[in-house]
Order: sequence, then structure tokens, then C-alpha cells
Amino acid sequence: MPVIPDIMLNNGQRIPQFGFGVFLIPPPQTEAAVSHALQAGYRHVDTAEMYGNEAEVGQAISKSGLSRGEVFVTTKLSNDAHQPDDARLAFEGSLKALGFDYVDLFLIHWPLPTGYDGDFVSTWRTLEEFYRDGRARSIGVSNFQPHHLRRIHTEREITPAVNQIEVNPYLTQGELHRFCAEHEIVVEAWSPLGRGRVLADPTVDDIARRYGKTPAQVVLRWHIERGDVVFPKSVTLSRIRENIDVFDFELTGEDVEAITALNRDQRAGPNPDTFAG
Ligand code: NAD
Repeated sequence: MPVIPDIMLNNGQRIPQFGFGVFLIPPPQTEAAVSHALQAGYRHVDTAEMYGNEAEVGQAISKSGLSRGEVFVTTKLSNDAHQPDDARLAFEGSLKALGFDYVDLFLIHWPLPTGYDGDFVSTWRTLEEFYRDGRARSIGVSNFQPHHLRRIHTEREITPAVNQIEVNPYLTQGELHRFCAEHEIVVEAWSPLGRGRVLADPTVDDIARRYGKTPAQVVLRWHIERGDVVFPKSVTLSRIRENIDVFDFELTGEDVEAITALNRDQRAGPNPDTFAG
């Protein structure tokens, strides 16, 4: 079994740096995919209310023979539930679907600055309640830009533990990355493989050949070397195993820089400043 490093969050909780993402895994396939991942050594699962597969994630973990405390579970607030009362109901719904009495990490999925009168601060204050009552061991945000984080920062009691953002070699997010580091917010890189797009890049391919690794492994290792948390998604057993097999090599600083230099500021997902949910 691979030994996966932990990262210490700003509240003292620890998060496994590597996990399993389940976005776009249809509910009937989710339990099997998560079970395969747990058998392969994954101990961190990233889901969301909007993925529609929280129940299947919970079932796979409950049936795995692992104790609840051995698996780090993240879920996220639905975009249609930012009003405080809706957020409270949605959070209870997520716990119920998962079959757990707490989650390790609960996130605001998108800032939605053009919705709810731009008031994601009230939503954040509601997440602070879940943290205080212990049902969310850590709370954080997703898809927040520096100016969104600054607003939270001036009005918050609790600093977000993480910011989950789109990052891959074609979208390195240098400025946001530095901002998060300065504010002790851990970056989680979503779509770390660029949904497969970056794997055909000749520079990635050349580096992969030199290390005797696959392009996916090299890209995932690049995220690890940058200090980010990653959770690639796959439903294919061989890829689930391949993706976690990145803890027996290190990239040189030069190779990390060569991959970072591939940046094109190219998003595959929506722009958080305009995305309305
Ligand atoms: P990803 O970058 O993990 O790419 C997944 C795709 O890459 C797979 O469908 C498969 O086609 C391919 N792939 C996986 N392993 C491979 C391998 N070894 N070789 C070749 N191809 C391979 O994309 P993702 O699923 O979008 O992102 C990962 C996770 O990030 C999601 O499951 C979800 O948990 C999270 N996410 C969060 C947000 C957000 O807004 N917070 C948005 C998207 C994704």
C-alpha cells in the first residue's frame, strides 16, 4: 500500500494529500469505484451534493471494513442552497445521504458572486456554525478568487482551511496559489489531469519516459511537489491503481518548472467571477 502524506490544515486537522474524486461517476457505478479506490489504498474521497452520489460514497465506506476515522470525506454545499436556512437543511441532507454524523471537510462549492445579492459571507457564517458544532471537522471554499477570499477574511471568525480550485499544467493559477499560501489556505487542485487533456502534451510525455512513469503519474506528482491536494477521478481499476502509484519517485526542480511553464491560463471549467450556478 502506498504511504500517502498528510497536510496539516490551519486548524490543526490533517488531510491526506491524495484522494479520489467522484464527479460525473453515475450513482450506480459509484459504490464499486469507491470500493476499488479504498482497496487500492485511497483514504480520502471528494464528493458533493450536486454530484448526486453521496449515498453511494457513504455505502462504499461503510462496507469497506475501514473505520469512519480512517477515511477523509469532503462534500460541498449545493449552489441552490446558499441562504442560511437552506444551507442548514442541505448540510443535514448531505450527512443523512452519506450516513455519517460528521464530515471531515465541508465546502461552499462556488462563490456565485452574481447570485444571492453577492452575499457569500452569510453562507460562510453558516458553515462556521457546522464547524463549531463539530459536524464539519474543517470548512473551506471552492472556486474562490483572491477578491472573494479577501471579503471572507475581513468578516470571518474562521479562516477557510482549503480553497478547491481548477489547476493543471495548462492552468497553474500562480497568483491565487501564492495568495492562498500567504493566508495559510491549502489549495486543492480539481480536475488535476485537466480531464485528460494535458496527458498528450509532448513535454509531459518526454518527462514521463525519462522517469519510466505514465503522463498521468507525472502530472499528479507535479501537483504533489507543488504542495497541493489532488483527487483524480477514474472508474477504471487499472487507472485507479496507476494514479495512486506516485509516491515512489520525485521530480527534479527543473522538471517541476518545465511543467509549470506549460501554463496557458486555459480553463476547462466555468469562470468563478461569472458562473451563476
Ligand atoms: P480529472 O482531471 O481527474 O480527469 C478525470 C478524467 O481523466 C477521467 O474521466 C479519465 O477520462 C481521465 N483519466 C483518469 N485517470 C487517467 C489515467 N491514469 N490515464 C489517462 N486518463 C485518465 O477530472 P475531474 O474528475 O473533473 O476532477 C477530479 C475531481 O475534482 C472530481 O472528481 C471532483 O471530485 C473534483 N472537482 C471539483 C470541482 C469543483 O468545482 N470544486 C469541479 C470539477 C471537479
